[in-house]
Amino acid sequence: MLGLRVVRITSGISLRNFSRHATLKSSQSPVGFIGLGNMGASMAENLVTKGHRVVVYDVVPESVAALEKKGALVASSPAEVAAQADRVVTMLPASRHVQDVYEGPNGILSSVRGGALLIDSSTIDPTTAIDISKKASDKAAVFMDAPVSGGVVAAKAGTLTFMVGGDEAEYDAAKDLLSFMGKNVIRCGNVGTGQTAKICNNMLLAVSMIGVSEALNLGQRLGLDAKTLSGILNISTGRCWSSDTYNPVPGVFDGVPSSNDYNGGFGTALMAKDLGLAQVASTETLSPTPLGSLAHQIYRTMCQKGYAEKDFSSVYKYLSTEESCEPKQ
Ligand code: NAD
Repeated sequence: MLGLRVVRITSGISLRNFSRHATLKSSQSPVGFIGLGNMGASMAENLVTKGHRVVVYDVVPESVAALEKKGALVASSPAEVAAQADRVVTMLPASRHVQDVYEGPNGILSSVRGGALLIDSSTIDPTTAIDISKKASDKAAVFMDAPVSGGVVAAKAGTLTFMVGGDEAEYDAAKDLLSFMGKNVIRCGNVGTGQTAKICNNMLLAVSMIGVSEALNLGQRLGLDAKTLSGILNISTGRCWSSDTYNPVPGVFDGVPSSNDYNGGFGTALMAKDLGLAQVASTETLSPTPLGSLAHQIYRTMCQKGYAEKDFSSVYKYLSTEESCEPKQ
């Protein structure tokens, strides 16, 4: 990794300590951050707050302006970010956005610095990650996939879990940077394996959220209070993140999307996208995933019924407000 080696040679520091020293040297090269949505805005803000100079870009000018107010520098394209930064993090909706930001005419790869470290934290398909990694390598840059778990709450708190796929020799430099935004950074293997871990996790999360929603809806229709039932689930065998941290019933917990009309959080369209990735992977590997397949259909149907931009826990609202199908006498 040429750029990092240059730093090591010129400063006499080890690669392991690169980030700490780079932070001290942050006036020389800012960290690039592209994609300032529900997740990326907080991740970039954490980098700013923790002492990095950060240069940002997003297609939505308001999102860029909000980060500029927090102290970030502004670029007018991904290419302009990459021209200024030795380390660039991207946090974009889906594979096609990532391809555009890396490979488009004004993309990162058009101006990437030799030896730069490029980390994509979006959830995309593993094949796209591997393809971009090869193209980055042709430009003497290093690419890693590092999708996240934890949602907007962890993004704000800087406690995300990063699942990293990338070259072992370069991993420490990535870990040092990602540690400013997360509390768990785990190397899963080579490029693409971070995405594999992520889509397996999200398939399970999608299924568990539907299960919790079904149980809480049924319990209430049988006369139980949602808070009481949630309290019981959360000390019983049905307990899971969807019940004890991100409960889908409005009013059970404060500070979660269900108590804010399902705004913010992790959009249903993004969950449907991740389930689509899991289904492609299931087909390719001949793995039976019947519940993942059903969950995919449920979230896709929700997108058609107006829930696309709502948090995925709105599956509770979708299930609980369906018309009664009791036959009329
Ligand atoms: P988001 O839609 O809120 O944000 C995406 C951002 O990318 C937006 O600000 C958008 O304007 C920007 N963007 C789109 N195309 C662009 C382009 N060509 N150039 C520059 N910017 C562009 O999405 P999010 O909720 O922040 O999620 C981002 C990624 O993280 C997704 O892949 C998602 O699956 C994953 N993820 C989200 C959550 C969550 O809870 N929201 C949790 C874990 C993982």
